[in-house]
Amino acid sequence: MPDLSKYTKRISEHFLNSGNIVLISHINPDGDAVGSQLALFHYLKSRSIKAEMIAPNNLQEFLKWMEGSEKIRIFISQRDKCRNIIEKADLIVMVDFNQPDRLGEMKDIVVRSGAVKVIIDHHLNPRGFADIEISDPAFSSTTELVHEIVTQINGKPYFTRPYSEAVYVGIVTDTGNFEHGSYTSNTLRVVADLLENGIEKNRILDLLFNNFSETRLRLQGFALNERMAILHEYNTAYIWLTRDDLNSFRYVKGDTEGFVNLPLSIKGIIFSVFFVEKDGFVKLSLRSKGNFPVNEFASRFFSGGGHLNASGGEFRGTLENSIRYFRKVLEENFEEFNGNNSLR
Ligand code: 5GP
Ligand code: MN
Repeated sequence: MPDLSKYTKRISEHFLNSGNIVLISHINPDGDAVGSQLALFHYLKSRSIKAEMIAPNNLQEFLKWMEGSEKIRIFISQRDKCRNIIEKADLIVMVDFNQPDRLGEMKDIVVRSGAVKVIIDHHLNPRGFADIEISDPAFSSTTELVHEIVTQINGKPYFTRPYSEAVYVGIVTDTGNFEHGSYTSNTLRVVADLLENGIEKNRILDLLFNNFSETRLRLQGFALNERMAILHEYNTAYIWLTRDDLNSFRYVKGDTEGFVNLPLSIKGIIFSVFFVEKDGFVKLSLRSKGNFPVNEFASRFFSGGGHLNASGGEFRGTLENSIRYFRKVLEENFEEFNGNNSLR
């Protein structure tokens, strides 16, 4: 467990001495981003410290049951109000990202703000745009780190139902319900404490993972049957979905969450990419096993980043061109990226 005390004292002082606090999550906020925002919000509220919450765009549908999520303002739906809040802020706490690009349309307003900026995160390669940066990839999730920070600020672990649920949601979504190797003994200790303090694990898991539409499951079947290519030579698989595909299965935000992991269950596949067509660009999710660094792959070829085994990025252009480009850079660079892969 890294020593957080040098940060927590300063953060605690900023929480106590700031008049206008804003908690900000990243674009396409996931369970960990929203969980981190809400955990901080609920803790601060218990100390009578008010905070606003803003996300660059809409939350995934399956997170909207979380207590307090309705208080998160969506920048693209309330631009003027959100700009006003950010411009008035004297403390901005950003969670679950460390690069200004992850702020979407809010980027310039936040970067220009004179507020004290804090980053709490667990991704690699921080971009250094905050005054206090706690960015530690040793944590399974940002909520696990938030929980450690709150424990230190509070002097003892803090548990209330909405707070504990938020921490738990971040951990279970970012670890794929403990399927990915990103959790540690500390993660399990935190989860054990949450369970001992009354968290309703089965209800939450149902809300997160068994709460989808029929069309979502059919979309998954379609993606695997009709839109998956396997490149055995490169131990690689990819899935792509067009806008029309999404429309015909009545896609809602969050429906394709987890699709990128599915090809990794095929024997021999160590690299999986999911392409989804957006307006004028293509969004990519990348996953790997072993030492294949998908964060470097995403940052070098798709202006993205993330973790060693889970990253994301984008391609400006058509879906067809993004796949063509991907296959080209894969062929040219596979050996280099896979060079020291122990799973080979
Ligand atoms: P996902 O595939 O679930 O969208 O993202 C996987 C991981 O990659 C997450 O930890 C996320 O923070 C990171 N990530 C996703 N998209 C981007 C991106 O466009 N830029 C950067 N820097 N990181 C991304
Ligand atoms: Mn995260």
